[in-house]
Amino acid sequence: MTIKGEATVVKHTGSHYLLAELPQWNLFPAVLRGKIRLKGSSATNPIAVGDRVKYEAEVPSDTEMPTAENPAVITTVLERENYMIRKSTNLSRQSHIIASNINRAFLIITLDFPEVKLPFLDRLLVTCEVYNVPVTIVLNKVDLYRESHKEMLEVFHEIYSGAGYDIMEVSAKTGEGVDKLREAVAGDGGVNVCLFSGVSGVGKSSLIKAIDSSLEPRTGEISDAHQQGKHTTTFYEMYSVASGGYIIDTPGIRGFGLVDVAKEEIALYFPEMLKAAQDCRFTPCTHTHEPGCAVKDAVEEGTISYERYSSYLGMLDDEGKYR
Ligand code: GDP
Ligand code: ZN
Repeated sequence: MTIKGEATVVKHTGSHYLLAELPQWNLFPAVLRGKIRLKGSSATNPIAVGDRVKYEAEVPSDTEMPTAENPAVITTVLERENYMIRKSTNLSRQSHIIASNINRAFLIITLDFPEVKLPFLDRLLVTCEVYNVPVTIVLNKVDLYRESHKEMLEVFHEIYSGAGYDIMEVSAKTGEGVDKLREAVAGDGGVNVCLFSGVSGVGKSSLIKAIDSSLEPRTGEISDAHQQGKHTTTFYEMYSVASGGYIIDTPGIRGFGLVDVAKEEIALYFPEMLKAAQDCRFTPCTHTHEPGCAVKDAVEEGTISYERYSSYLGMLDDEGKYR
């Protein structure tokens, strides 16, 4: 008999996809038959982890699930609420969708090694704004600098709380803050899909294990050479967390790709600048040379941090490099 349903893509293994009917974790294989193309998408992967799809399957009875020998067939990809991409290569205009339908991105960074560079963090934050993904900054390894670098930590909070971002302080080593992070991942009842992002060494896998010790996140950097292969392999995978929520791990991703953001639009994705810009004399205002610029005034008064403003100027400057 034929069964039909809707499910979420939780893994892509090359030959097939694994689906689950969240919040159930009833994994079953599915394949793509024929061509599914999303309107206006230049992505190398038509289907990404997090996608909600419609499937059909032939099964002996409606109590049985599709199997590897007899997988479900994905017939439709439902419209994405949001997604994150990375560029396939530096030169091509093609992009690779990392994940979709993300309820919240957790950007894992540390003030210890490997120390976060604020302009890099600001690019990640801008990308989350562009793609409409709510974001939490997770400061890991606080055991190493809470006392010794008190001032640095305070300044960090001033800059990013000031810009309107949520910050969590955690230590995968001591367990500090892990309960709160676990609660944030669980969300409040519904299906809560969380993207975990962080450069190699910040403790992303340690944190995932601290949240749920039964999970086995993959570790280490994946070299770009692999990712540029003809058949781009998807390395991303969704985990079901015992205490609630879902984590999409993104091993090996240094950053996200920004596409199609015009110079004049960059400031729209700095929430604190967007707010202040209402009082600029000119619209649009690039907040650089214009007289009567409320953003520059706010920087001078200290209500917008100089660090964030200079990241913005940096992005205006080398815009071409990152798109
Ligand atoms: P990943 O590459 O981001 O997955 O990082 P790992 O989880 O492999 O951690 C990298 C290194 O940082 C390991 O040596 C961990 O033991 C260490 N580490 C991770 N979290 C913490 C932490 O909260 N405090 C301290 N002191 N070390 C940590
Ligand atoms: Zn202005």
